[in-house]
Formats: sequence, structure tokens, C-alpha cells
Amino acid sequence: MPTKIDIISGFLGAGKTTLIQKLLAESFSGQSTALIENEFGEIGIDGVLLKQSGMKVREINSGCICCTLAGSFDSALKEVLRKYRPDRIIIEPSGVGKLSGIVEACARFALREDAEIDAAVAVADALKYRMYSKNFGEFYNDQIRSAKAVVLSRTQSADPETLQAIVSDIRQQNATAAVVTTPWDQLTGNAILAAARQGASPLLKHGAAAKAEHHHCGHGGHEHECRCGHDADEVFEVWSVQTPKVFRLDELDRLAAQLESTAFGTVLRAKGIVPAENGGWHQFDYTPGEWKKNEISAEYTGRLCVIGEKLDRNKLASLFGV
Ligand SMILES: [Zn+2]
Repeated sequence: MPTKIDIISGFLGAGKTTLIQKLLAESFSGQSTALIENEFGEIGIDGVLLKQSGMKVREINSGCICCTLAGSFDSALKEVLRKYRPDRIIIEPSGVGKLSGIVEACARFALREDAEIDAAVAVADALKYRMYSKNFGEFYNDQIRSAKAVVLSRTQSADPETLQAIVSDIRQQNATAAVVTTPWDQLTGNAILAAARQGASPLLKHGAAAKAEHHHCGHGGHEHECRCGHDADEVFEVWSVQTPKVFRLDELDRLAAQLESTAFGTVLRAKGIVPAENGGWHQFDYTPGEWKKNEISAEYTGRLCVIGEKLDRNKLASLFGV
């Protein structure tokens, strides 16, 4: 049986890790599964959560597997396939990766190896769809246009008219993708996967990548095909730090509230793993308007990461006191 490749993309904070955890628990529990995790920042945080569940995780950090790290991505796919021979390889691209580049890289890989693409999903937050599609369209809409299924998150909090408008916008960009609008807690992992298999990506035909309409933009020296757009690191930036600093839990809540202001630049995502004053460890996750923290097992050191535009590094460092 060829190894199945599932690509779970989604913009910063859309809920990719949550969806992967749901699929692992509800749909892939009897299968050997490996994960390739790409984080834009240099320190892995999302991978920790899945590693702690006993999963084989191969991390590729400090860049983006659709462009700057395309070579590393292909090697990682090969390595994971040879080393583990898993039933399934799940790929979690960075929130600013272009799904088109990743789908094409996987399709080329599948032509050479005993592997095939199964799901190619774009997770999109229904509450932030309009804002992100407008402000970061080059990355955001690329994910929508390349997916076999667009899985909307947080639809339970969206009003019906907004949701309807989002669905017609998705339809205009990608007529063949399945669009999942039912809140996730009402759906099984298998129902989401079934949708992802029914849909079709405009990029994938007959199981292989459709001939991509690349044009050459004249600056040679790249090993990969140039996509003639921006790389994520030309648009987004990361502030990250490793620190043993112990945080009070109420202090974390206060920090999250402060990130809402524009004083630190446009913060699109903040996440971290830190020791807490009660002796435990906490993982936190911030996206504009939303804040979550959970207890996790101890890690070798604390890590903080903020992704956004025009970040003020000094102010972020003093906010976190590091
Ligand atoms: Zn990229």
C-alpha cells in the first residue's frame, strides 16, 4: 500500500494542530502515522504538542517549506518514508506557507516514491476569513485555491449571512473544493476526511500535479521553481526567544490582553511553552481576539514566539520580561 500524504494547511491560528489532533484521535488511531511539522519561527512549539502524544515528528523550522526550505522538505519526506514506512505522513505547513507549492512538491514526490496524496486541506477561521483574505491574500487565497477541501473553523460563532458570504467567496476562488461549514464538535474525523476526499484541488488532476503554469522571472540560482510571488519571510516576521523564565498564570493572561494593542506591531500569532509558578508547564496560544492556555508536560526549556508584521522586538522583549 502506498503511504498516504495528508497536507493540513491553514493561515496563522486557523486551528491546524487542533484538526490534526482530532484526526489522529478519531480517524488514524490504528495506523502508523508520522508528522512533518514546518514552523516559520526557529523554535518548534506546535510539534511539542504532537510529540507529547507519542507521535513521530520531523520538524523543519526557520523558514517555509513551500519556498526557502523546499529542498529540506523533499529530503524530510524521503527520510520519513524510508525510516518509518508509515501508513500515513501528515504535513503541517507553516501558517504562512503557500499550499500550491507544497501540493506540487508532494505530487512530484509521489510520482517518484510509493506514496500518494490523500487530503489537501486548508483550514480557515470563519471569523477572520474576510480580514485575512483581504490583507494577506497572496498567502491566504493561495491556500483556498489549492485545497481539495476548505475546512472552516469556529463556524459556531459566525452569523449565517457571513458564513454564506464566505462560502460563495471560496466557491469563486475554488469551484471544486469541498467546503466544510458544520462546527467540528458535531463532526467525526472521518466525516471531515470524507469531505476532503470528495473535493478536488484545481492543482491535482489524475493523481498528479497539473502542469503548473510557471513563468520564469529571470533571477536564476534557485533550485526550486520560482513561484514569482513573495516568500513568506519577505512579508511576515518572527520574534522568538528561549528562556527559563517562570510565569505566573495571571501574568500570561495580562500579556495576552496587551498583545491586542498595536504597540508591538501587527501581532498575528503568539505562542509559547513556559514553566509556571505552580511547578507545572503551560502552553499558550494567542491569535487576535482569542487566547488559550493548557497544562503540558515539562520541556527542556521555555520558548516564546510571536509572528506578525512590523514587530517591535524591543517592546516584545520587555513585555515578556526576557
Ligand atoms: Zn514559502
